[in-house]
Amino acid sequence: MSTIDKMKKSFFLVLTILAVTGCTNRNSVKTNSPFNKIEAIEEKYQPLPLTEVKPQGWINEQIRKNLDGFVGRLDTLVPQLIRDDKIYGESRLTKKVKNKEVGALGDAGDWQVQFLWWNSETQSNWRDGYLRSAILLNDKQHLSNLQKYVDYILSTQDKDGYLGIYDKDLRYRFDNENGELWAKATLLRGLLAWYEQTKDQKILSAIERAAQNVIDNYPAFHSHPFYSKQPNVGGTSHGLMITDVFENLFRITGKETYREYCLFLYQDFSEQELNESAQYKKLMNDTLLLSSHGVHVYEHLRSVAAAYYASGNPQLKIALDKFLNKINDETTASGAGVGDEWIGGKKADATKRGYEYCSLQELMHSYLELLLKTGNNAFADQAETIFFNAAQGARHPSESCIAYLKSDNSYYMTGGLNGDNSNKKQTRYTYSPVHQEAAVCCVPNAGRIAPYYVQHMWMKHNQSLVASLLGPCVVTTTVNSHRVTITEKTNYPFENTIEFVVSADSEFDLKIRKPGWVTKFSVDTEYIEEDGYVVIRKNWKGSQSVKINFIPEIVERKDINHENYFTYGALVLASPLAAREEKTKTFAIPGFYNFKYSPKHLKTYWYAGYPVVAVQNNPLIFKTILLNDSTHQKETVELVPMGNTILRQVTFKDPPH
Ligand SMILES: [Zn+2]
Repeated sequence: MSTIDKMKKSFFLVLTILAVTGCTNRNSVKTNSPFNKIEAIEEKYQPLPLTEVKPQGWINEQIRKNLDGFVGRLDTLVPQLIRDDKIYGESRLTKKVKNKEVGALGDAGDWQVQFLWWNSETQSNWRDGYLRSAILLNDKQHLSNLQKYVDYILSTQDKDGYLGIYDKDLRYRFDNENGELWAKATLLRGLLAWYEQTKDQKILSAIERAAQNVIDNYPAFHSHPFYSKQPNVGGTSHGLMITDVFENLFRITGKETYREYCLFLYQDFSEQELNESAQYKKLMNDTLLLSSHGVHVYEHLRSVAAAYYASGNPQLKIALDKFLNKINDETTASGAGVGDEWIGGKKADATKRGYEYCSLQELMHSYLELLLKTGNNAFADQAETIFFNAAQGARHPSESCIAYLKSDNSYYMTGGLNGDNSNKKQTRYTYSPVHQEAAVCCVPNAGRIAPYYVQHMWMKHNQSLVASLLGPCVVTTTVNSHRVTITEKTNYPFENTIEFVVSADSEFDLKIRKPGWVTKFSVDTEYIEEDGYVVIRKNWKGSQSVKINFIPEIVERKDINHENYFTYGALVLASPLAAREEKTKTFAIPGFYNFKYSPKHLKTYWYAGYPVVAVQNNPLIFKTILLNDSTHQKETVELVPMGNTILRQVTFKDPPH
């Protein structure tokens, strides 16, 4: 070896050492990096396990209906996507089978088989909603079916901890679209719920081994799970949502590694070339509206929040705040984030923009995580707005089916947006218990939304128990090691009086969230008000009751385009349109159909400046005077909560001058 060669060698050695130390002590390399860990932030509230809050009243009825309907029967409605495809087990994706399986997809590159992750999402998101629903209702029959499923899934776990959809020849070695992390994220979210139910250490250990297997194969800050040679990746970028799993594992075990891994994932996601609006640099660019796939954007909000809390880095806080502002531009009166299915750099619009059911669940879940982290009850308002309005308004009021895409002003549900049927293949604006022509993604998420709402109705904060989302339920938990049961008697948001029956023999604070819309309220006991919460500090004895009366008013509001709409308490009101129903498909299982709707007489209105008044003897029917936008005549129009409607008008423009 010549002297020059030796010099070169030692030079490279120094570079290597610098690179290695740089990687292990990242702060010394990029002092201004938004991904530097400064100090992790403690979450303000602690979540309750799924088993401690039970739905009552209308929410209980809705979950029952789901279980008896599309949630309990999806595997028989689309057996080929669920029962017949053991994608996590015998039918894991492998190079060996691609030739016969990929043919139908057209020109097969040698990479295409890894694209075929969709059934994993359908199966695991469906099961997540299904098992949470069965747990909440303690339905023995469904629980016993699900136990068999969980046993089966655990039997597919490899010795090294791998749980997933790829055989050994494919896993963790991708340079393009893949479902490695996404298939695990959806699966493990469900298994975490099962662990909460059973407290079976075998389940927790299986989840931790699967998580460790991810860390072993995608080492933190030394690998690139989001690298792709082309920027349009669905499964890969959905995979960022494995932060849900790592955050929950951190909460359960207290192991900081899990939370730090979320920071790494968001960093790598941000640094790769991907068409994703939640990447750090894009969030920081105020001139960029959100543009990528809606569902991704709304779920990625949680991952940005996770990375910020894992690092305490103020630059990520700025990115998170900018993200929330950008989402606000995409939000309709009903709380939905638009995207049909792409957000496309265009703002929300009550008539011209649709929203996907998947996005309703994902955005609500993201707001719930932000509520947990910050205690800021504005996030609870946003979650309630979505659940009570957009989500109720996109499920069929009486049949077991949902709209894949829906808009606030919904004049036709015949395939395309508001009667635009130029694309014959567009079937998303219809009602179906599966939506197989588009994708079986929204129906599974429609089964998740109520259980996620219920679980977050109560949270803990130091010595207090927090009624964070309102509605009929019972919570049984421990506060300061004392057992507490609180029954929340109410028909909220359809009524606004809530009685909390507290059974406890200990001292703690009962914190009741005061919804953002409340201006007047009364409480029948001594309380203080703190950060938008009504706090009752008491040494509770036996069974005691607290009654709180939020006095609802009809409020005229404006959406982001200055169109007028009306709310009554937490409910957004709509002018319902009588519809002609067309049954377009009858499924082999009795009671399941696809439907299309067109208006009997399409009448739409402009705002006329008249007040909205309640119709006597019916607390949820209102009337007002609006301007018919074709005759220009004033008409008295009935308004009802939008959650119960199919075709409707929610926003009313000012008449043109
Ligand atoms: Zn969907």
